[in-house]
Amino acid sequence: MKVPFLDLHAQYLLVKDQVDNAIRNTVNGAVFVRGEAVALFEDRFKALVDTGNCISTGSGTDAIFIILKTLGIQPGDEILTPAFSWISSSEVISLCNAKPVFVDVHPETYTIDPALIEKKITPKTKAVIVVHLYGQAAQVAEIKKICDKHALFLIEDCAQAHLTEENGKYTGTCGHAGAFSFYPTKNLGAYGDAGGIITGNDELAAKMRRFSNHGALTKDDHLLEGMNSRMDTIQAAILLAKLPFLKNWNEMRRASARLYNDLLRDVTGVSLPSVRPGTVHTYHQYVIRAVNRDKLRKYLEEKDIQTLIHYPQALPDLPAYRYLNHVPEEFPVASRLQHQVLSLPVYPGLTEEQIRYVAAHIKEFYTKN
Ligand SMILES: *Cc1c(COP(=O)(O)O)cnc(C)c1O
Repeated sequence: MKVPFLDLHAQYLLVKDQVDNAIRNTVNGAVFVRGEAVALFEDRFKALVDTGNCISTGSGTDAIFIILKTLGIQPGDEILTPAFSWISSSEVISLCNAKPVFVDVHPETYTIDPALIEKKITPKTKAVIVVHLYGQAAQVAEIKKICDKHALFLIEDCAQAHLTEENGKYTGTCGHAGAFSFYPTKNLGAYGDAGGIITGNDELAAKMRRFSNHGALTKDDHLLEGMNSRMDTIQAAILLAKLPFLKNWNEMRRASARLYNDLLRDVTGVSLPSVRPGTVHTYHQYVIRAVNRDKLRKYLEEKDIQTLIHYPQALPDLPAYRYLNHVPEEFPVASRLQHQVLSLPVYPGLTEEQIRYVAAHIKEFYTKN
């Protein structure tokens, strides 16, 4: 048996007719940028997550960047951000000539640890970025209180958390703004780069829309300089076709996670992903902590089971951040996780048989090693 890490072609086959129609209609309509599907997708997405505004963007990375620029982040400002994440959440801070201030993550949830935030706040701190890593909700309600107390902006990176919930609310709706990625591999993925911002603040939303379109809301109305970051009509049409399936696909991911949990619960050497009480996980990734991780990964590869590591290096350890002169001891949890985390295949269409095959070989590895 073969277990690929992800099978985007199989996912395409689940919605082939809808997607083929969406593409054909867009090509026939020939409005490739700012076409009707874009506004329609924004309307449907904001209604789904229950917020006031959705502004589509060219990518998830752009979405966070546009939020920072619109909130008025200036050179020299400090932004707190998790030490364990994809690079987008910190690189956009540097793009504003502001300083990424890394905060270690919680040892069980792997999201930014609220208990460590206040220690890192200085008079230069302007905002906190939380990342809902792997589909697990970060402790936004608690972090919101800290942000309110210190008059900081709260930005949610929801690139891995489409319809993740905390206390009955979807992620992205608690902070000043939430950033989404619709990169092809995400829980809701386009067929190329695409992203979006949600915010309940109409004034911010208007600024974001302007910034993402060369500083103009209508043609030639350039009140300021912005950038070109727009979702293509064809991507919006594809996302519209896929949107009705998102809840069900998330449910399939949760079912896969439950089965993995049942099968791996008693395997010594493996720590299962936690789910914080009061939250709904969407398992963008199903990530275990594994003793002897690299050897396990190689063993699984020999059995035709693909796994990935999200992420092999904590952000402060990356060459890109050498200039900040951090040492791993400053981020003990992130520094440990980079050697332990292993992402197992999880996607709509993964079969029970495949999950049993993966779990059986993990079990077998630990009886031999
Ligand atoms: C994918 C991802 C992004 C960036 O999204 P792009 O659309 O690829 O720019 C940002 N943050 C996290 C946590 C991600 O996983």
